[in-house]
Amino acid sequence: MNPLALDDAQNCVLQHTMPLGTETIDLLQAPGRVLAQEVRANRDQPPCDVSAMDGYAVRAADLGAVSPQLTVVADIRAGDLPTLTVQAGQCARIMTGAPIPQGADTVIRVEDTQAVSADTVQINVAAEAGRDIRRRGESLRNGEAVLAAGSEITPGVLGILAMVKCAEVTVQRLPRVAILSSGDELEGLRDAFDVHKIPDANSYALLGQVQALGIQPTLLGIARDDPAALREKLEQGLRYDVLLVSGGTSVGVHDFVRPTLEQLGVQMHFWRVQMRPGHPVAFGTSAGCKVFCLPGNPVSSMVCFEQLAAPALRNMMGHARLFRRTLPVRLAQAVAHRPGNVEFVRVVLSRDALGYMAIPTGSQSSGVLLSMARADALLVVPSASQGLAAGEQAMVQLLDGTGFQEINDI
Ligand code: AMP
Ligand code: MG
Repeated sequence: MNPLALDDAQNCVLQHTMPLGTETIDLLQAPGRVLAQEVRANRDQPPCDVSAMDGYAVRAADLGAVSPQLTVVADIRAGDLPTLTVQAGQCARIMTGAPIPQGADTVIRVEDTQAVSADTVQINVAAEAGRDIRRRGESLRNGEAVLAAGSEITPGVLGILAMVKCAEVTVQRLPRVAILSSGDELEGLRDAFDVHKIPDANSYALLGQVQALGIQPTLLGIARDDPAALREKLEQGLRYDVLLVSGGTSVGVHDFVRPTLEQLGVQMHFWRVQMRPGHPVAFGTSAGCKVFCLPGNPVSSMVCFEQLAAPALRNMMGHARLFRRTLPVRLAQAVAHRPGNVEFVRVVLSRDALGYMAIPTGSQSSGVLLSMARADALLVVPSASQGLAAGEQAMVQLLDGTGFQEINDI
């Protein structure tokens, strides 16, 4: 198989993935999930014209005089159903969210008034009719489609679902994901310390990446470079919707992952992608499982997950937005590049008056996981680039953990 261009590889994984079906869950379990139903408003909100402020509901026609004094004839709170009509020279004390009584057409904020006696108030401002009234249906109109299927259930969406009384909500099912590391040299997190072994970082970095998508994966542990042991672990993994295997996918004499998967009925769709790090990545499917064979080098494994597995998982979750948000930045230093592969340089972002600047995180060797651990973003060097100059503009993909900053600099 020839190496594929990265966008062809991405199209391939997307063609082979689709949402897995729906389930109905309690609203309390819904944050982060993807709606599988259109949601319509089932009431006007607010249900009638209401006050936007604590103050007095008045007749604008009464405000012509300088500092008019009005008689307070009622006290209306949110949830009340006032039946009186405000007559000329009268007003009603009103709280935020309370219905505007008949006759009144304007609200004067309490700060713009002065109590003269228990039932007389002086208005200290001129105000046009309609001021500080929230109109019926301003937030939601009965019958209006307010959320489309495919919406992610963010906190605001959760609030809307509660407003339209969706105690239960139909969402896309989450894929079940298994993670397997392979290699004789690997030492498990709780295995005895052996300085000659390689600690299994990939299982945990991948776990973090999958969890960041809102899925709790299962760790299958470490498969040794032995066809029988590997086969047993891969068989377990193929019972999940998605299997992520790292290591053993290259051309080493102990790299049995791909042939063993094929023996187990997995059809491999590609092996090797024109990207760096991450060149020896492979993707296959069986009847029930999508398998990503990620390179063993920890940075390669993470970068391949980001470029190929994350969009596929989000596709299966029913998201419309499959790819990391990108941002134009300036380069703090030159980046060398030979044409042929899309390259992902791990960078931190710093901001000045001109915008964001990208600074590489140090050694870009695919074995140096700290380069990824410290990164805010992946700088994308296009395949055809001959290298980027200091100060040049380029695109970065924002990584997890970049949604917040240290100072409130707006
Ligand atoms: P491989 O793809 O199996 O040839 O592995 C490439 C490199 O990645 C080797 O140096 C491995 O020791 C290393 N490696 C493989 N799997 C892991 C893992 N789970 N955690 C950390 N390093 C790994
Ligand atoms: Mg290996």
